[in-house]
This record gives sequence, structure tokens and C-alpha cells, in this order.
Amino acid sequence: MISFYPGPSRVYPKVSRYMQDAYREGVLSINHRSDAFVEMSQKAMDGMRKKLRVPKNYTIYFLTSATECWEVIAESFVRKESIHIYNGAFGEKWCTYSEKLVPAVARESFSRETLLHADQLKFKKGDLICITQNETSNGTQVSTDIIKVVKKNNPNHLVAVDATSSMAGIMLDFSVADIWFASVQKCFGLPAGLAVMICSPHALERAQSINNRKHYNSILFLNEMIKKAQTPCTPNVLNIYLLMRVMADVKEIDSVHRTITGRFKKWETFFDLKSNKLDLLVKNPSARSHTVLPIESTPVLVDKIKTLAAKKGFLLGDGYGELKTTTFRIANFPSLRKSEIARLMDFLYDFI
Ligand SMILES: *Cc1c(COP(=O)(O)O)cnc(C)c1O
Repeated sequence: MISFYPGPSRVYPKVSRYMQDAYREGVLSINHRSDAFVEMSQKAMDGMRKKLRVPKNYTIYFLTSATECWEVIAESFVRKESIHIYNGAFGEKWCTYSEKLVPAVARESFSRETLLHADQLKFKKGDLICITQNETSNGTQVSTDIIKVVKKNNPNHLVAVDATSSMAGIMLDFSVADIWFASVQKCFGLPAGLAVMICSPHALERAQSINNRKHYNSILFLNEMIKKAQTPCTPNVLNIYLLMRVMADVKEIDSVHRTITGRFKKWETFFDLKSNKLDLLVKNPSARSHTVLPIESTPVLVDKIKTLAAKKGFLLGDGYGELKTTTFRIANFPSLRKSEIARLMDFLYDFI
């Protein structure tokens, strides 16, 4: 079965060999305070820095999920109010999590078909602005150019960005915001159970002045340990090892970005020009995600396509939340092979 699910998603085929290497090399029993672990964890971070172009003065942290990142951000970076800008289910969920942890939240929602009007967003209140760069539920994205304007218009706020289903798939200019995070079971092509968070010096200064040390995963504890390439608790050592191996393998992000956007254009042409029964959910081309494509149709056809696809060996993503019956989703992640995409297109051709 080839998984086109946008998370958990298809892992890189080489992960199979890397897992066996991990066992043979004794990585699975390694102590997380040992030199061997420190070397491995440092290599994983160096690989990310190089391949994904993480700025030199930004710090990388290891966590366990994007959801945990939401919590750490609410606990470590917000004094009074976090502002949530979203147009879909994941952005909204993030807001709901923050609401339980911070004194106040503010919501700014926008439509799936309109770009975020960043020039109109100047906030007088609040400490932190939260943006979902790639909304996995409805297949939209906010460009780094727009995020840059948000930060420019609100220089005293920290800007945090959920890039769970785009990091390692498209080029992201990390320097435009303060906090970025992703779990690795999406674009990184790795198994679930690890997340990475990337923070600017500005973010760290803020956390130090807030000085919340009530939680085991406070960014301040993470920061003290990561200076030694370690984590406060025993981390997902196997996944950090796999991250190290995969980062050594993958091409630089600008090259991956070209591949992903090229494949996206092909999908776009396929559905926009050739089909009248299946349609991209998002009609505004500049709002479309390049890594997650929800396809809209009648509930009957959506169901039929998913069932027949499974029989042919393709796992398609279910629609998310309120879009469950009227859409299915196709991941456009780097771990998928060109030939696999061609085969899925062939299969879908019969329905368009
Ligand atoms: C999948 C996803 C999450 C949740 O990730 P977990 O690792 O399950 O916590 C959060 N945000 C976005 C945008 C996602 O796609």
C-alpha cells in the first residue's frame, strides 16, 4: 500500500534499512547522556541546519509532537494573551489548547479563499501571534512573505508558526518569525513520535524574562540541555537517529522545493484543466498548499474513489473534520516517488 495520507504519511523507503542499522549499531539501547548520543543528536541538528537552512543564531529543540509544541509555546512564551490567526481546523485547535493555558486568547479567522491581509493586522494587545503556515485540514498556506509583514507590523510580538505539514518539503525563510515547529510524520518522511522546534534569540529572551519553570518541558529546561545536545528527559532516540540519517540523505531544501512545486503544478493542471467531476477544494491558486491537496467531489464519488484506490494499493487521505465526506486529501510529500504519483494519476484518470 502506498500512503498518500497527509500524516502519518509514507516514510522514506530507506527508513527500513536505517532501523536495522540502528539495532545493529546498538542505538536502541544507547544512554541519552552518553557521548554517542550527543554526537548523533548534534549531527541530526547540523543536518537540519544545513539542509533546511536554519539560521545560525536560531536554536533547534527536540519534542515529541506538534501538539506538545503548542503547549510549550503557551507555557513558555505568553505573558498575557496569545493571538491566533487561522482559517482551518488545526489553527483552531491550537487556539483551543492555548485557551486552557494562557490568561487570554484573541482569534482572527480568515476565509479559505482569501489571503491573509497582513498589512491590516497591527495588534495593540497580546505577546504572541500564532499562524498555521500550512493548514493540513483544508490545503491552504500562508506564504513566508505574508508572515514577514505580520512580524514587521508587530515587532514587539513574538510570531510562532506551525509548519507541521510543510517543513522539509518547501523552502521556509525561518528568519521572518521567532518560533517554528513540525512533527516529523509528515513532510520529513519519518515515523511519528518526534517534533522539532526552532527558536530565534528574541524568543529565548522573552522566555527568560517570563521565566516559567513549572513544567518539565519548559523551553528554559530544554534550552539548558540542548546546549549539550541533550534533552531533559529520555527522548525518542531512534527517531533522532533516523532524522540524522534522512537529513544526511536529502537534497538541500531549495532543490526539494523545486521538485515539490513542480509536482504540485502537475496535480493542479490535472484537476483544473482536465477534470469536471473532481476539483481542487481551494479555488484561489495563490491560497493553495503545495504539500497537501484536498480534492472535492460528491460524497458518493469520494467514497467510491477511496475504496477503489485502496483495492489498487493507494491509501488516500480522508477529508478532515467538516470536509470529511466531500473531500479526500492527497499528500505531496518528498518521500513519495515520481512513479508512484504517476500511477495514482493514472488511476484517478478514470474518474475525471
Ligand atoms: C498533524 C498536525 C498537527 C498535529 O501533529 P501531532 O504531531 O499529532 O501533534 C498540528 N498542526 C498541523 C498543521 C498538523 O498538520
